[in-house]
Amino acid sequence: MSTERVYQRDAYLQTLDTAVVDVTPEGLVLERTVFFPRGGGVMGDEGTLRGPAGALFRVLETFEADERILHRVDRDGLRVGDAVQCALDWARRYTLMRYHTATHVLTGVMFKEHGVRVTGNQLTPDKGRVDFAFTTFDRETLEAGFARSNALIAQDLRVRIDFMPAAEALARPELFKLETGFSRDLSELRLVDIVDFDVQADGGCHVASLREIGRMELTRTENKGKANRRVYFVLHDA
Ligand SMILES: [Zn+2]
Repeated sequence: MSTERVYQRDAYLQTLDTAVVDVTPEGLVLERTVFFPRGGGVMGDEGTLRGPAGALFRVLETFEADERILHRVDRDGLRVGDAVQCALDWARRYTLMRYHTATHVLTGVMFKEHGVRVTGNQLTPDKGRVDFAFTTFDRETLEAGFARSNALIAQDLRVRIDFMPAAEALARPELFKLETGFSRDLSELRLVDIVDFDVQADGGCHVASLREIGRMELTRTENKGKANRRVYFVLHDA
């Protein structure tokens, strides 16, 4: 039985009552979860599980293995069948949601307006890193991309979650620029739609409207080979 990914329907849900369905050396499997597992360059969630008699377990890491979501906790003690309450480290998760959605905006702008493709990304609560395949790197183009991204954020576009039959989605390659945390062999694919801007197939957690991102600041770039430019940014409260 696969874990119900409650975070995919409601990224703002911070706590959830559920039960332990498996205990492995790597971590616990839950019936349902609000913890996003590491994937697509986005860090997994941290937080706590409150078990029987109020015992508190820290979730140190959430990740996927063999299509299962594993919650690595700080100590033994939970058993199959135990009722637990998940609680996210919300400040951390919300920051990751802001970075993740910011990355969609920036990569959407760079591709649509400048024809520059993204080849990878790494998002932490401290900074975002995106690799772009420039034919010739041009700092002005990148700065224009950041300025345009901040203008879109200021417009406060809405971010919607939709689901689409997989066969239909797979026929639209423009939906797969980022490939964040979803598996292609599902009957239904999840879409993250920045309304009036860009739609991507995506399994991750996003803010509900762009203004929540704040302001993006380009901090530095690194040359990672002829065509590859690694770009770092941070977010500020608007
Ligand atoms: Zn994404």
